[in-house]
Amino acid sequence: MKRRDLLTAAGLAAVGGSLTACSQPSSSDASAASGQKDGPARHWKMVTTWPANFPGLGTGAANLAKRITEASGGRLTVTVYAGGELVPPFEVFDAVSRGTAEMGHGASYYWKGKAPAAPFFSAVPFGMNAQEMNGWLYYGGGMELWRELYGQFNLVPFPAGNSGVQMAGWFRREINSLADLQGLKMRIPGLGGEVMARVGVTPVNLPGAEIFTALQSGAIDATEWVGPYNDLAFGLHRITKLCYYPGWHEPGSVLECMVNKEAFEALPEDLQAIVATCCQSINNDMLAEFSARNQQAMKTLVEEHGVEFRPLPDDVLAALKTATNETLAGIAASDPFAAKVLEAYQSFQQAAQAYTRVSEGAYLAARAGA
Ligand code: CA
Repeated sequence: MKRRDLLTAAGLAAVGGSLTACSQPSSSDASAASGQKDGPARHWKMVTTWPANFPGLGTGAANLAKRITEASGGRLTVTVYAGGELVPPFEVFDAVSRGTAEMGHGASYYWKGKAPAAPFFSAVPFGMNAQEMNGWLYYGGGMELWRELYGQFNLVPFPAGNSGVQMAGWFRREINSLADLQGLKMRIPGLGGEVMARVGVTPVNLPGAEIFTALQSGAIDATEWVGPYNDLAFGLHRITKLCYYPGWHEPGSVLECMVNKEAFEALPEDLQAIVATCCQSINNDMLAEFSARNQQAMKTLVEEHGVEFRPLPDDVLAALKTATNETLAGIAASDPFAAKVLEAYQSFQQAAQAYTRVSEGAYLAARAGA
């Protein structure tokens, strides 16, 4: 009882302070009430790699912040910062690692320069789709490996969104064979960029906000981004009408929420559970949103803007697959932890593929043929 009294007193003092000093809408009567019971309200910053209010990805991060704030009754409020507002997009990892912000939202393949194994938790070319990734992460040992890796950087990772299969990208000229890729400059991050380099493309990594201008000015000849929903919002169809599929390089990209380890461990158990549960709910919610919005946006792009969706030629896909195997082998040879993660990833994928072939794969083929 004594400890509880102390906590109550501290909570009242902190809530009083926050009500006068803070204009957060979440510092409501509800948070004041819970503050009296459960200690001082905590205010976290979430830095993101996304442009402000960006559909799907940026709004997913915003939804996550809102859910945590609401589910905690205002005991843990989260304020979202777009890429560049507090730190540049590609400094999110370092900012959360050192505690400049308690939380970050991005994609682990942006951090391959920090840890060669990082991209395996987001997107692997010709790798697993969203359904298979969730199986590996939550029930196949993937999360244990991801926590082990990010723990070295003072971070706790959570899956927090999935784009589903992306598009191969927008090209300013037709791609009819492998020869047409030679010398192209393409914005394509992560392992996809490394693979593209092996087939004659010069890969460039640019944050989302810089893509339109770079493609328009001719600084790049091609770009991948996400899929119809996001690409329509960026207006990439105003520069070229050629969008190629499939997203061989991002077959089900996992977005991430990373939390500063000390900040996470300082939370009471129920708030830790709220953070984890809200991340899992956003992981599901974002995929549902993309499933609904991408097909609407594709219709708009085709019918209103004259965009052509074309398949990548077979020889291009075959060359990309060979180059993917070489790239993955190279990463495994360069870093023991990456080798360990890749082995676990590929072992799960092999088994998942065998089952997907007779379940989702067979069903989709049957439905299309019916
Ligand atoms: Ca992408």
